[in-house]
Amino acid sequence: MPRPPLYISREDLGWSATSPAAYADPKSGLVVHYDGSDQGLVNGDLDDFLDYWQRTRDFHTGPSRNWRDVGYSFAATPQGHVVEGRGLHREQAAQPGGNTTHYSVTLGLGPGETPTDDQINAVRWLRQWLMEDHGVSGKVLGHRDFIATSCPGDRAYALVKDGTFTQAPGAISTEGDNPLIGLREGDGKATGKKEEVIAVQRLGTFAGFGSYLAPYGCDGEWGPATSEMMLALRHSVGSSVTNASSITGTAYAHLIQAVAIAEARKLIAGGGGGGALPATAEISGTVKLKGA
Ligand SMILES: [Zn+2]
Repeated sequence: MPRPPLYISREDLGWSATSPAAYADPKSGLVVHYDGSDQGLVNGDLDDFLDYWQRTRDFHTGPSRNWRDVGYSFAATPQGHVVEGRGLHREQAAQPGGNTTHYSVTLGLGPGETPTDDQINAVRWLRQWLMEDHGVSGKVLGHRDFIATSCPGDRAYALVKDGTFTQAPGAISTEGDNPLIGLREGDGKATGKKEEVIAVQRLGTFAGFGSYLAPYGCDGEWGPATSEMMLALRHSVGSSVTNASSITGTAYAHLIQAVAIAEARKLIAGGGGGGALPATAEISGTVKLKGA
């Protein structure tokens, strides 16, 4: 296959066509990196990312790093572009232990940011191109597979581990999955998850725990109050978790269970929660009452 469909070369960036870094022929796979601090690029546009890429190169070639070029082979943008760094057949600097054996791609995200679907696909296109045209293994690793580091962040690393990056470009495997699962404290507008957080907050409110969100209400920002709400809600259905700052599968089940209980209480209390229920209901059978 030719280059990935959205490809920005060094020449497009105004850089020398070939990186001054030493020659290498990485064959063992592709390593995913991130930035380490939230850059806000998920909600930005391509120009924001290209500005970031230039700043990163300036930093890497400046006094604090003194590298010969930007440290990575490539970047994958939230808009779906593969951007050249050192490019093909060059040694890298950002992944000691794998600088000559594996190519590198950074997402430019921080720990509170989730790779976009387009960005995941950019990594997939890059991987496919390296495999088909350059004889590189299809293996995808995270920086933390080489050394003790937070890189590439828990979110991207989960995608490394579950095989999301090693699928063919196209539909994202998480499509059709529950969009609430995986939400966590810190999510909101800045991470592109405002509507999803509102859904959690509204469900918690329907379950009777809306007072925890005062005074902001269902604002779509998951801060400590939303975690407190989830903790109280989960305890109410018998859970003994001590940390409820994310929506795991079990947390999601508890959320739905708590809403169902609240609705059932409304029905029992005759509150008309179901709207169309009859005013009276008949129950047959035997009821034995014990004295108090
Ligand atoms: Zn890294």
